[in-house]
Amino acid sequence: MSIGFETGMAGTGRFGTIRHDWKREEVRALFALPFPDLMFEAQRIHRLHFDPREVQISTLLSIKTGGCPEDCAYCPQSVHYETGVGAAKLMDLADVLAQARAAKASGASRFCMGAAWRSPKDRDVEHVCAMVAGVKVLGLETCATLGMLTAPQARRLKDAGLDYYNHNIDTSPEYYGEIITTRTYRDRLDTLGHVRDAGIHVCCGGIVGMGEAPEDRVGMIATLASLPVHPESVPINMLVRVEGTPAASREGIEPLEFVRTIAVARVTMPASVVRLSAGREDMSEETQALCFLAGANSIFYGPKLLTTPNPEPDRDRRLLDRLGMVPME
Ligand code: SF4
Repeated sequence: MSIGFETGMAGTGRFGTIRHDWKREEVRALFALPFPDLMFEAQRIHRLHFDPREVQISTLLSIKTGGCPEDCAYCPQSVHYETGVGAAKLMDLADVLAQARAAKASGASRFCMGAAWRSPKDRDVEHVCAMVAGVKVLGLETCATLGMLTAPQARRLKDAGLDYYNHNIDTSPEYYGEIITTRTYRDRLDTLGHVRDAGIHVCCGGIVGMGEAPEDRVGMIATLASLPVHPESVPINMLVRVEGTPAASREGIEPLEFVRTIAVARVTMPASVVRLSAGREDMSEETQALCFLAGANSIFYGPKLLTTPNPEPDRDRRLLDRLGMVPME
């Protein structure tokens, strides 16, 4: 047994115990493990909580695109950057439901609705509530990402049947100011608190490859793993570089470093579903397979992720077939 492996065992707990007191040095030590040891530990813990063949499949629809007043450095929907993404109005209910039906027919179990708002107005929330209720009737789980929420808005969405709310911390607290200046890390944590208090499952992760240092990936995972309750869903995104956004010209990360990030998320948040999220379009099938081995067990399905490309559903189905993996019920 190598020293690195022993370090991993000490950091994670022999039986994949769920902990909320992760220290940065422990997370840093996991990133530093020899690759085989980290992958073994991630697989071991993954199998304690999940069937390793199963992948949860979500579909993401942009219900209100562009014109966002926030300045997220990676986002083509911000009004601050020239990216060719125009502003559109909130979609009609009937159109959203038609897309949800198609997603279900393609094998999705969860339908995520994203709107490019800083924070929705109460009347916007009412429109989204009608969409949530309609999607639920189709037998799909519902997820929304609408920006910052107040506590009453979160409760209203819960009453309408919302299962998950996505709100990412994006990166480490230290690097956050290089990514967004129009709202604070604290704002994000407050919205996550309102969502959690309302009884909605939390979907919260981040983006890597935005020029952050390795220590920022440590800080991001340590922050997520130290939340009072781990997010039920943890999307780990590889930056999709969109020309015109500031993050597009920043230094990316190697695929193996991305795999390590997935594995450390799996080890530190053993019972959370870890989503191999944006960036799959540019990822080799071999890298995606390594991500599944590292403990990723969710993907977005469908040709588009809000405004950026995603692999065609057929390509995903073939990959899952070749890996002997199946959609999670
Ligand atoms: S990531 Fe969301 S909040 Fe940030 S600019 Fe894009 S749409 Fe707005």
